[in-house]
Amino acid sequence: LAGELRRLEKLQAVSDIAASISHEVRNPLTVTKGFLQLLREPNLTEEKRSTYIKYSLEELDRAEQIITDYLTFAKPSLENIEVLELDKELDYILKVVNPYATMNNVLIEVNIINNGYVTGEAEKLHQCLLNIIKNAIESIELEGQITITVDARDGMAKILIDDTGTGMSEEQINKLGTPYFSTKDKGTGLGTMVVFSIIKAMNGEIKVESEVGEGTRFIVTLPTTNHNSK
Ligand code: ADP
Ligand code: MG
Repeated sequence: LAGELRRLEKLQAVSDIAASISHEVRNPLTVTKGFLQLLREPNLTEEKRSTYIKYSLEELDRAEQIITDYLTFAKPSLENIEVLELDKELDYILKVVNPYATMNNVLIEVNIINNGYVTGEAEKLHQCLLNIIKNAIESIELEGQITITVDARDGMAKILIDDTGTGMSEEQINKLGTPYFSTKDKGTGLGTMVVFSIIKAMNGEIKVESEVGEGTRFIVTLPTTNHNSK
């Protein structure tokens, strides 16, 4: 089963997404504010008190989750464009994500067949790959493995992210990148949308292959750069 994603054109531009973050974060903050105001009531029952606190914390979690998925979009674009060496960037990304992987009994292996250089913002590339790897980790139920392969040749760098997780149906694959599509209890459904936008901004492509019960492969293709041509 292979679903190819050709919907990059339809996606919102990075800047449009940035504009909607504040909106998305404001909702849970407004709800939390409401509950905090209710907590001021003097004769609240203990039950109501703990319910309001529970809802407030859940809403704040949601705000935090949204910020985690979007993070780099809040920052101005085009300013920090640089030449990025893929193996170095992956080293950094793995440092960030390894504790989360270990916590979930997931081993991450990196396989550099041919290293390469791409042009872009380090933070956006990090955010993009982190969102893909985080989903791969979250798709693994008890324990499993993620293999990241880099192969740069003929002006293109292929980055494969393979997981031994639950996999996705064709229908699920087609919904990827749709805002708020999530199969998780506390999912935002924003992670893959951000992934697609970043790849689009970097003039790259993304493909997803998946088999329910077997695992998923994300294939990110980015144009490479000669590392001397800054
Ligand atoms: P969230 O992670 O908050 O649910 P995302 O946009 O990051 O939002 O992902 C959307 C959905 O895509 C997930 O809920 C999951 O169903 C599916 N998904 C993404 N990556 C994978 C993967 N590697 N394996 C299985 N399902 C995945
Ligand atoms: Mg996610």
